[in-house]
Amino acid sequence: MVVLESYACGEWKKGIGNPRVLRNAVTGEPIAEVSSEGIDFGAMLRHGRERGGPSLRKLTFPERAAILKKMAGVLNDHGDELRRIAGSYGATAKDARLDVDGGIGTLAFYASLGAKQLPEARVLADGDVSRLSKEGNFVGRHVEVPLEGVAVQINAYNFPSWGMLEKLAPALLAGMPSLVKPATPSAWLTFRMVQILIASGVVPEGALQLVSGSVGDLLSHLTCQDVVSFTGSASTGEKIRTHPAIVKNAVRVNIEADSLNCIVLGPDVAPGSPTFEYFKNEVVSEMTVKAGQKCTAIRRVLIPEERAEDVIRALRESLASIRVGDPDAEGVVMGPLVDEDALVSARQGIEKLAPETEIVAGDPGRKDFEPKGGFFMEPVLLRCRDPKRAAAVHEVEVFGPVATLVSYRGAEEAIELGRKGGGSLVASIYSDDEDFVARTTLGLAPYHGRLVVVDARSAPESNGHGVVMRHLVHGGPGRAGGGEELGGVRSLHHYMQRVALQGDPDWLERLLAR
Ligand code: NAP
Repeated sequence: MVVLESYACGEWKKGIGNPRVLRNAVTGEPIAEVSSEGIDFGAMLRHGRERGGPSLRKLTFPERAAILKKMAGVLNDHGDELRRIAGSYGATAKDARLDVDGGIGTLAFYASLGAKQLPEARVLADGDVSRLSKEGNFVGRHVEVPLEGVAVQINAYNFPSWGMLEKLAPALLAGMPSLVKPATPSAWLTFRMVQILIASGVVPEGALQLVSGSVGDLLSHLTCQDVVSFTGSASTGEKIRTHPAIVKNAVRVNIEADSLNCIVLGPDVAPGSPTFEYFKNEVVSEMTVKAGQKCTAIRRVLIPEERAEDVIRALRESLASIRVGDPDAEGVVMGPLVDEDALVSARQGIEKLAPETEIVAGDPGRKDFEPKGGFFMEPVLLRCRDPKRAAAVHEVEVFGPVATLVSYRGAEEAIELGRKGGGSLVASIYSDDEDFVARTTLGLAPYHGRLVVVDARSAPESNGHGVVMRHLVHGGPGRAGGGEELGGVRSLHHYMQRVALQGDPDWLERLLAR
């Protein structure tokens, strides 16, 4: 059994006390044990601030980018091993590529961005110089400097590689040391990646630390120079946001939480048309990739009332062809959920939706999967009986292979229903009717972080509803946490302090050139 240690203050440390045992999602066999008890979180933060921060801040952006490039190279060299470990939490080969290769790709993207788009400097100028006086001898300009604390990155279980690297890359590039805390159920992959990075010696000491196991009293030691970047459920996000030390010290927090994302099928899209087929495939893919354990997965499928029967028939047929089981077995498309808690929670979620829905495809109680000990569930499609009066359908995120059909009458009703999610990460609109697309896009935009519009022309090249792009921001208002990540250079701002500098224009120019 692998013992997942924490990397704290320059040493690998095993937690004391009763460890939590992690199981292989496919077989149910124990694979690793983990505990963070006894780890001195205060000392870890001090080590990051005193060792990692100064080492990073003395480098320019391109020099930090060179570190990211080396990190991506080292991880790539271990790609096969890392994808194999991803299999232990139920990833199919495609899921593993999404997490492992997607994460390394994000690291490489930030390496390239730092080398090509950022200046040979340690601070970033933001915007133009503003003239503040008559003669022009007193001006103002915004600049951004790295915060001098630690970027605490708390991640969700569904992307142990990508989730870590999409936060780590911009933080290091901005000049902030990071303390990574993966979700426990899939922590083995993150542990191994950090082990590889530390052993390679490419990351300056103190710039990368790891907590394997629970957070303990970590948050109590945070100061105004630290940052928390959190991805996970809305309920944990709320606990973090209201933590006394975070409130008292106004610690900067970015929350990426769960989301009742929707896809909207336009009334113009006829069954059998290319756009209809793309829509159908997208729903099935979002329900089954990573067994639906994706923050961006489609949870609500908004369809014109008159198309309901056609959509049900098409989706039932496609879902029936999805083989669930051991990801290594021939023909298997969808693996298990991460652990028993996730399986129980997905089944309970369907029960919560039951008063407002009926099952149109799949059986949440099915148990005859192979291997016997795995945490499997087949895709389940529900239909909402009375969408406008329903509450749970718009509020309960079932984090698994589950989606609900919600019928609407007209663009205004589609917008109203989409907004009932209370703020989501992403919505997609499948239609070739420009007027419908314009109305729904503008109606849904204030409630979403990302909108994907797909018509017959763009469909073949579309990246899809659920794929987060590094160049574009990821996050959403309200229920989705109100946070923002990625988006190219934008993500660096989260780890830097913007200062309005005022003074002599020549002095300002000389300062920025230093
Ligand atoms: P979770 O239970 O909220 O846990 C997320 C992280 O928070 C884990 O690392 C967890 O550690 C840690 N944590 C738990 N209690 C904490 C506390 N009191 N203070 C600080 N940290 C704490 O979420 P999950 O089950 O891992 O992930 C699934 C959820 O994440 C879904 O709801 C999904 O929608 C959401 N998600 C959102 C995004 C996004 O980008 N918006 C992306 C992926 C997933 P332990 O595991 O050790 O308890």
